[in-house]
Amino acid sequence: MKLIFRGVRGSIPSPGPKTVRYGGNTTCLEVRSDDNDLIILDAGTGIFPLSQTLFPELPLTVHLFITHTHWDHIQGLPFFIPLFIPGNTLRIHGAADPITQREVSEVLSRQMEYAYFPIREAELKARLEYVSLQECEAIQAGSAVVTNIMMNHPVINFGYKVTCNGKTLFFTGDHEWPYNIYEPGDDYYHEYEGLIAQKRQSIVEFIRGVDVLVVDSAYTEKEYPAKKGWGHGTFDTTILFAREAGVKHLFFTHHEPTRGDDALEKVFQEALDRHPRQPGDPEYHLAMEGVPFEW
Ligand SMILES: [Zn+2]
Ligand SMILES: [Zn+2]
Repeated sequence: MKLIFRGVRGSIPSPGPKTVRYGGNTTCLEVRSDDNDLIILDAGTGIFPLSQTLFPELPLTVHLFITHTHWDHIQGLPFFIPLFIPGNTLRIHGAADPITQREVSEVLSRQMEYAYFPIREAELKARLEYVSLQECEAIQAGSAVVTNIMMNHPVINFGYKVTCNGKTLFFTGDHEWPYNIYEPGDDYYHEYEGLIAQKRQSIVEFIRGVDVLVVDSAYTEKEYPAKKGWGHGTFDTTILFAREAGVKHLFFTHHEPTRGDDALEKVFQEALDRHPRQPGDPEYHLAMEGVPFEW
């Protein structure tokens, strides 16, 4: 399998000299199966530079999986060039929102309404198929299988596991480890602690032993208290999670948009120093746009 990050920033595109090494596009991962099937995880602005590399492969069937529909994970989709070329098929998978009851098709087609974009979805030349996913549903994507598990974020967010010939990758999308909303001594405190532990265990079991784990690690421990409840992880929570799940390679992503590359490397190194290497630890990587990783 192969992974190329096409967008590594969270929240908003951050171009400029300070982000030129790691990249300034919002979330998009290009994953290739052993048979070179194209699986794309999220459609942030990184899907635009990805689409510019695809011309030699057209016509294509593309398997796109949306973790959730926050702007930074979908805003590149109207600019995905194969959509405008006949013969291509784009199969878009995502969860229906249990609160608004809106299907992923409805949410995504809205961003191509006339007020936001000059070309309407109905005018696209490629074949567009929407697949609404149930939790834990397995989907065949070429020679790979993609399954999902619900993560913790203000809107429904599926983490995706891609499996091909026994090789595995898991991407959290945006994820903050749940915390107890009750104070110690409140009636529901212990019950809630139990629910959190159960959820953590189910996620850890789902991910156990994957070859490549990609995790939202937007904040430092210092920054986190001011951003609690926004739905993102920290470098430290990510390290503990990866250790617990026994993964082989860990990529930190969803880089904070205000953090330049030098500052990013600094906080990354500080986090590694706080958690000295133990036997069985994964290899740690900062997600960087355009660099292929094969396994
Ligand atoms: Zn995000
Ligand atoms: Zn989000």
